[in-house]
Amino acid sequence: MTKVLIADKINEKGIDVLKDASEIVNNPKITPEELLNTIDQYDGIIVRSRTKVTKEVIANAKNLKIIARAGVGVDNIDLKAATDNGIMVVNAPESTSITVAEHAMGLMLSLSRKIAIADASVKSGKWDKSKFMGMELKGKTLGVIGMGRIGSQVVKRAKSFEMNVIVYDPYITEDTAKKLGVTITDFETLITKADVMTIHVPLTPETKGLISEPQLRQMKKHAIIINCARGGIINEEDLYKVLKDEPDMKAGLDVYQDEPLENSPLTTLDNVVLTPHIAASTKEAQRDAAIIVAKEVKQVLSGETPNNVLNMPVLDIETFQELKPYFKLTEKLGLMLMQIFNKNIQKLNITYQGELANLPKDSLTRHLLKELLNPMLTEPVNAVNAKAVAEQRGIILTESESSFAGNYDSIIKVEATNNKRTVEIEGTLQNDKPLIISINGYSVNMLPCGTMAIIKYKDLPGTIGIIGKMLGEEEINIGEMQVGRKEEGGEAVMILKLDQKITDEVANSLKTIPEIEEAIPLKL
Ligand code: NAD
Repeated sequence: MTKVLIADKINEKGIDVLKDASEIVNNPKITPEELLNTIDQYDGIIVRSRTKVTKEVIANAKNLKIIARAGVGVDNIDLKAATDNGIMVVNAPESTSITVAEHAMGLMLSLSRKIAIADASVKSGKWDKSKFMGMELKGKTLGVIGMGRIGSQVVKRAKSFEMNVIVYDPYITEDTAKKLGVTITDFETLITKADVMTIHVPLTPETKGLISEPQLRQMKKHAIIINCARGGIINEEDLYKVLKDEPDMKAGLDVYQDEPLENSPLTTLDNVVLTPHIAASTKEAQRDAAIIVAKEVKQVLSGETPNNVLNMPVLDIETFQELKPYFKLTEKLGLMLMQIFNKNIQKLNITYQGELANLPKDSLTRHLLKELLNPMLTEPVNAVNAKAVAEQRGIILTESESSFAGNYDSIIKVEATNNKRTVEIEGTLQNDKPLIISINGYSVNMLPCGTMAIIKYKDLPGTIGIIGKMLGEEEINIGEMQVGRKEEGGEAVMILKLDQKITDEVANSLKTIPEIEEAIPLKL
């Protein structure tokens, strides 16, 4: 029988899940020394945040197959050491979704009915009924930014309040939106139409400062803004300024740019409700986390694949060496598709041609998906969970193989589609380095690295000059240029290697040239 150590206090229901499958040692007060000296006895360990699973502990863990964190953050686990030693690390990111969604609803109600401020008033001995005129949620438009685990739970709850829900999440497919029964909209529309706006996206370079003064000024004068996601998505200084100018506008925050929140002018405003990053703190979330990870431990110890693996299992060394250069190629292909589409992909066909057809390709596909999905999601997508995450997000994946690769040893061809476009990219290796050899049927010869751009244009005299001149005026230097066309005067593609980045503004002004159909900046 396998042996599992429970090193922190977890909910009994989690222990119940495991008790018939493994011998359990429940030692929630285990000291670091005791852990170091006894860890070699265990096949699995479950921790919360108290126990530190350090490099030293992992070095002694001769039999350990799985480290489970009954919760979300894994700062107390040395992920790299676990990966290097082939030990899986799992967590329970979905355990808090309902809890956080309920908190968002709580903040919404607290603001729409002025509950927090009315409470403070009554407790101070006043009875100011007329001061606390509220707003019903029924019939109001709720704008949800980010339709992942938590966003979807908020939508469900808002519907039962008879709210009209609109969603901005450029990464979900229309099919997924249909299944969830929501209307997808663009960011501008959401900002201007929402009576209540709630944020459920990860903090990424793209979402940092997503809601700043210009967006706040465009919102309805009575709008309610909720952030239970991450501090920094709303610019707090701007929020204070706008809320001070607009007393009917309100905000409910659980997360802040700097935590704990200290000396913030937001605390002086009546139209704000603040909670100290507690949106995920309920007994039920802790119970669910314990149950989820206990199931994961049970699955792993009986040889099955878990759902929430945070690191990658180590491939056998021979296969790894053979596939190693192709990992880089699949990563570049994933990154390119992510940046070309910049939103949802509905279908992805991957064809492995030539020698690759005879090698195990599953991990290559997983690497490609990892690169494609990671920038848009909160929890890390890795080689283990990549296919499951792609499926959850409605991407239809097909993989095929063919022994024919023309003049090359191997080719990886990816074809990605959504309702607006289809993009086909072929890549191979040149001296073990990724090389892109065709884009949408145009032959190219491009090392995918650094700052680049793909420009689709009409093959008319002077167009290349116009593009060069325009980039020159923006002080963007062209290091390398390749052009490809199928027929004279028809559609053509230009691949540029640049010394400076093309900003979205420059890409947009390039698109105003009638001969240019598309200009896509790439950072590879
Ligand atoms: P998730 O990964 O399941 O969903 C995130 C969604 O955001 C995805 O659907 C993604 O497509 C979308 N998205 C990504 N970038 C976007 C963009 N630029 N614009 C619009 N949509 C975008 O994440 P989740 O588990 O639902 O978590 C959502 C947020 O809540 C995260 O920031 C997470 O850290 C936070 N969170 C906070 C607490 C708390 O205690 N307050 C607890 C748990 C999670």
